[in-house]
Amino acid sequence: MNEWLYMAAVLIVAIGGFFVRSLSLSGAAATVLVGMAVAVSFSWQGLCLLGVFFVTSSFWSHFRHQQKQKLAEKVEKGAQRDYVQVLANGSIPAGISLISLAFPSPLWHVLFVVSLAAANADTWASEIGSVSRETPRLITTWKKVDPGTSGAVTMAGTLASYFGALLIAVVGFLLWHDVPIVTVSLFGLFGSLIDTYFGAVWQAAYRCTVCGMETEKRKHCGRQTVRIKGRDWFNNDVVNWLAIFCSIIVYFLVTKLQ
Ligand SMILES: [Zn+2]
Repeated sequence: MNEWLYMAAVLIVAIGGFFVRSLSLSGAAATVLVGMAVAVSFSWQGLCLLGVFFVTSSFWSHFRHQQKQKLAEKVEKGAQRDYVQVLANGSIPAGISLISLAFPSPLWHVLFVVSLAAANADTWASEIGSVSRETPRLITTWKKVDPGTSGAVTMAGTLASYFGALLIAVVGFLLWHDVPIVTVSLFGLFGSLIDTYFGAVWQAAYRCTVCGMETEKRKHCGRQTVRIKGRDWFNNDVVNWLAIFCSIIVYFLVTKLQ
């Protein structure tokens, strides 16, 4: 009985996400897979937490939509998430759920909350920080850069990141009661900062040979751009996935192996 309810809830959210243009068709399909995998072990609590991530991230993606049109020149993808973006954020929470089915332990749902805290922190940071009035600075050299540049931070984005992680930690605590709110929220922020660091150091960046703009796009002004940093395959999605992975591994090492 419950399985059908979960399936219906996941389908409604994925189809809704498609209709409000938060998800492409492939993104909606990937959302269904992630939702079902999460429901397998973490049932309605897992779906609730995934829902908080999904709904708030979609909300902030549409926030100051006009201003983000300008950033669309710099970033590879827009507000409509495709399956690669959904899996970059959702494959680790979904994987933790499947692993916990095979090896039950009270550790897994806390790692699940940490992974979503990191994903949420990063999404809130990019969606809010990129439209802040401050000039962003690179996390490595502190050099001033254009809004929307990967690896850059603003005060607003960093605060947004912490509150994004805190919201997931608080909801996780309300759902499971044994989630340490402060620790989990700090690890979410940590995940987002790692994401920014990887974005600054390793993520591929390109320059347009016509207008000179630094961008994540392979093509600009009708021409192929030239790579100035990173490797072609190391895009924002790989950075996202890796940052979430690092946050759960470091959480595990720090809290469980003392
Ligand atoms: Zn150009």
